[in-house]
Amino acid sequence: MSKIKIAELFYSIQGEGRYMGVPSVFLRTFGCNFKCAGFGMPRGEMSHEATDIAATHTMIESFQKYEDLPLVSTGCDSYASWHPDFKDLSPMLTSEAIADRIMEILPQDHWKDEHLVITGGEPLLGWQRAYPDLLSHPKMAGLKEITFETNGTQKLTEEFKEYLAQWQMYTDFSKEVTFSVSAKLPCSGEKWEEAILPEVVCEYEDFGTAYLKFVIATEQDFADAERAIGVYRKAGFKGHVYLMPVGGVESVYTMNNKNVAILAMKNGLRYSDRLQVPLFKNEWGT
Ligand code: SF4
Repeated sequence: MSKIKIAELFYSIQGEGRYMGVPSVFLRTFGCNFKCAGFGMPRGEMSHEATDIAATHTMIESFQKYEDLPLVSTGCDSYASWHPDFKDLSPMLTSEAIADRIMEILPQDHWKDEHLVITGGEPLLGWQRAYPDLLSHPKMAGLKEITFETNGTQKLTEEFKEYLAQWQMYTDFSKEVTFSVSAKLPCSGEKWEEAILPEVVCEYEDFGTAYLKFVIATEQDFADAERAIGVYRKAGFKGHVYLMPVGGVESVYTMNNKNVAILAMKNGLRYSDRLQVPLFKNEWGT
């Protein structure tokens, strides 16, 4: 039986993108190919918040569980899902254990119209090999919709492509796969040539619905987003594009959410909120 290293598994409202407002099970896998230490920082500077928390975790007081970890206002707000110093907080679980836990957190003990979000970290790293085993588990049979929240840098493996096509061919009710691609602009601190990979994202469109979601804090970020959109479109990407305000904490989010909404309207793009921030303060497990 396959195993997946799980950073978090919880039930909440999807706060972002296409399924905003839909009750969803979130499966947050461990591991990411990026660090995104530039978020919320002046351009060219990197956040040390995650590293400082990691130093506390390893040297002074050990955090026992995710909920004890501090939230950050700069850098990646999911830092504990990839930083190696927090890997002890993410257990390796079998498909059976994950499916059992999902049944426990679903309000009706079975899938109704809830949606599954497989997020990270970067969920399309090596875990692609384990998803078929989980998604084929009898307790997952009623699941209709899945979103992979990805940074858009990981190619789908041949085996996983085959599985996704087969999963959506189910005939009793319609099933749908979505790729929510949060492509990383220079404000993330990641390199353009490693983050903007249109050929990878275009292929997602062959195996589900894909859309792009750019995190915006400044006009420069929007200029970078426009450049990236041009690159994706030139490569043949057909999906929708969302602009989303930066801000894992309320003070940062409320500073620019309205401006980003206006920018999206002016440019005929979609606006994605971050409902988990005003609703739940973006606490762990939301
Ligand atoms: S890609 Fe996502 S999970 Fe990975 S470091 Fe960047 S923001 Fe965090």
